[in-house]
Amino acid sequence: MKNRWFNFLLFICLVCSWAGAEQKPKNVILLIGDGLGVNQRIATSSYLGRPLEMDGGIKTLISTHSANSAVTDSAAAATALATGKKTNNGMLSISPDGKVLPTILERAGDLGMATGLVATSTITHATPAAFAAHRQNRNDELGVALDFFANKVDLLFGGGRELFLPPAKGGKRTDGKDLIAEFQRAGYYYLEQKAQLEELKALPAIGLFTDAGFPYAIENDGTLPTMHDLTKKALELLSQSPSGFFLMVEGSQIDWTCHANDPAATLFEIVAFDEAVAEALDFAKTHPDTLVIVVGDHETGGLKLDDGDPRALRSMKTSSRKLAQILNQNRNKAHELFCDYTGICPLPEELEKLMRTGNLEAAISKFLSEEAGLKWSTGGHSGAPLPLTAFGSGAELFREATDNTHVPQLVAESLGIEL
Ligand SMILES: [Zn+2]
Repeated sequence: MKNRWFNFLLFICLVCSWAGAEQKPKNVILLIGDGLGVNQRIATSSYLGRPLEMDGGIKTLISTHSANSAVTDSAAAATALATGKKTNNGMLSISPDGKVLPTILERAGDLGMATGLVATSTITHATPAAFAAHRQNRNDELGVALDFFANKVDLLFGGGRELFLPPAKGGKRTDGKDLIAEFQRAGYYYLEQKAQLEELKALPAIGLFTDAGFPYAIENDGTLPTMHDLTKKALELLSQSPSGFFLMVEGSQIDWTCHANDPAATLFEIVAFDEAVAEALDFAKTHPDTLVIVVGDHETGGLKLDDGDPRALRSMKTSSRKLAQILNQNRNKAHELFCDYTGICPLPEELEKLMRTGNLEAAISKFLSEEAGLKWSTGGHSGAPLPLTAFGSGAELFREATDNTHVPQLVAESLGIEL
């Protein structure tokens, strides 16, 4: 009898520990679409004619206001997503009264988890910066680079080479430091070309593929790695860590294309981001102890969905800004080029009217947006709530998330740590 009870209790304990292990993720992948609102997601899904990879999983809506504004900027939003605390616009993981706020990446690092940041802006831009830097002003990107070095982030992939180099080496560092050399002396592999990704087999590593930010995804001629390439490599390397990892991947330029109200560039940017999400979800399928969260930091552009069909933009070959340059340089062939680059042929007099406007890029974007049924209400950010989707181990917890500060709080809870 005693033995039966003992076996029963042992069974219960095994079930409990198994359930606990199921709940607690080993790896966390946080994918942030900068500027990614609900209508951006719906428009991209219509454009593709299928649901996005990021649209499955546990769904909720979160608010995004900052400590001093109903409409956040990326610095305050990323601070909320990294630290679970609100701060003022422009500040990076520092409280409004100047206190350093610990980040979820730093806490994960304290646990022995490997850490990584991937972005297509400068890697020192506001969103990645808030995870591993503490600065009063987001424009202090030179200082952010110093914080990344001090913080020993295991993997950094993005743009912004010039922020790590002194002027003598073509950089912008006013302190004269060659931070790339310092990273290398500290044992980091350094890469700056897509082909080098293939050869990279271990961490720590810093990959700075452009001087400033990447070009838009729609303008990437294949010489630069895509968000998907970077995410795939990051997962391959970080998953070598026996204690798991924390990875943040930012689709940085959704924000920039939405600021420009450029419909095709925006759709391409979100498709590229969704391909990175697909890679993360594939990884989570083979590593079920992985939590994947997809969220925006704020909405950009005040995008509304109007009569029209985003599939009208399926033949687009470049952004409005590139097309404006091409048309301005070849005015006598403008009509032919417009049809070729967009797959949409306006009447010649319609195009002539566009060409007469003071800002051709904006006129092209407006024309294409109308064709696709997309209507922008601002060139800035809006305070709209954002969809969040969560997948895998610990995802259930995210049903409770109603504010951006809940994201790292729930990640910390799922990992069993304090922020
Ligand atoms: Zn923005």
